[in-house]
Amino acid sequence: MQTQVQKVTIENAIEKAKLYGMLKYLPDGQLTHAPFSLSPYAISADSLLEMTELTSHFSELMIRVSQDWSFLEQHLSPISKTDPFLKMLLDLRGQEVTQSKQLLVQRNDFFLLKDKVSNSAQRSSSSVGLSSASALRQVELNTVSASFPFLITQLARLHQNLNEHNMLEQIVSNNPLVPVVDAFAKAVQDYGSTDAVMLLVSQPNETNRFDQLGLEQLLWEKYKIQTVRKTLTEIYENGSLREGHLVLEGKKVALTYYRAGYTPDDFRSSEALKGRQLIEASSTIQIPDLPMQLAGMKKIQQVLTRPEILSAFVSKEISQRFLKTFAAMHSLDEIIETPDGALRASAWAAKNPDKYVLKPQREGGGNNYFGKDIPIKLADMQPEEQDAYVLMEKIEAETHPAILVVNGYAETLTSVSEVGRYGICFAENGVVESNEDVGYLVRTKAENVNEGGVCAGFACLNSLTKA
Ligand code: ADP
Ligand code: MG
Repeated sequence: MQTQVQKVTIENAIEKAKLYGMLKYLPDGQLTHAPFSLSPYAISADSLLEMTELTSHFSELMIRVSQDWSFLEQHLSPISKTDPFLKMLLDLRGQEVTQSKQLLVQRNDFFLLKDKVSNSAQRSSSSVGLSSASALRQVELNTVSASFPFLITQLARLHQNLNEHNMLEQIVSNNPLVPVVDAFAKAVQDYGSTDAVMLLVSQPNETNRFDQLGLEQLLWEKYKIQTVRKTLTEIYENGSLREGHLVLEGKKVALTYYRAGYTPDDFRSSEALKGRQLIEASSTIQIPDLPMQLAGMKKIQQVLTRPEILSAFVSKEISQRFLKTFAAMHSLDEIIETPDGALRASAWAAKNPDKYVLKPQREGGGNNYFGKDIPIKLADMQPEEQDAYVLMEKIEAETHPAILVVNGYAETLTSVSEVGRYGICFAENGVVESNEDVGYLVRTKAENVNEGGVCAGFACLNSLTKA
């Protein structure tokens, strides 16, 4: 039951969310507010600082990995034998006109551990030997389509407003929107054509359209730079190459920002692939370029948890700081030390499915296997398919009660919060020119999404507050 005060706050917050443009489409085309939380997630100053300081180092790691094509190929091409989507991406290399300028707009996602001590005890019995003096565990780093910079900035405004009316605690200020748009503008200016545009590559039925519109709108208001929004298929149908430039609607495309192209669904028609090939064959700066997209693959994340591999890309000091935040990750055929002795990781995970998440090389949610689905999927898999998956230790995230507001309804649920840090990095031929952390994303969801309830199963945008 909600108190009268809560009810007023919730109704007030929903109206303000709409006022701030925190909107999304429902599948039937109706507009509603984006799901949000009215319970900011409390984080310790130490964990917040640790996470923030890591951003630029992780961006630099991604730039370095993206510069090492033979490394990417070594680990990804075995997978392309059974994964046509990955094969298609690797084959794009043939079309690619390598750009001297790189712009990475990434988001590095973490959970905070429920119980740091018990997790480290578990950790010491595993063979990976990662140290664990950190409450952070990295979930993944998104190099492609790192979404929500607009909506989360608007939520911070909403939360700040509610705080000023004594309806919410003080939040940690947050504004990734402005630096992301500033980076777009700098890239367009660097391209050197005064009337050039940004191309936003979109999915055909995008429900998160307002997050993209917010970026486009500020790019126009602040810099008078136009955005052309097209699907990959439309890019093939309407685009052309002129003296190496991609041209759409009569305008040169300086910058291509992908909010699509990370899932096989975006390539259902052969025209979509031709659209991507056209982009690759042009001199447009891409966020991300092909090697950066590939550097964000889960297989690459897994191999980088091996200290001897990681140390080839970063200093010893940075490597140690990274390793503290990594959950254990394995290939399926890896032999690992377990309480039952040395076992193949797939055999151990099949017996202990609640300890793992099984992940294919996909982005965008809904592709991973949890719990009892893991042994079913493992049993179903052809031996040659095994390379395409990685096993990741399941992170037991800290829980907290949260009021979640979804499509006009509010519920208080025991929740977990995933905190991402946005990073922006400019590089030229792999040499970093500027590199910064520009803000955060919090997504709060019911602890056990299998339990019923209107708001369960929805990741609700949230802010941080200091514990
Ligand atoms: P995607 O690229 O599809 O977003 P993620 O690796 O981010 O894939 O996984 C999707 C979601 O699954 C995460 O947002 C998180 O809620 C959950 N998840 C992923 N890995 C783990 C893990 N190791 N432990 C617990 N939950 C996880
Ligand atoms: Mg993710």
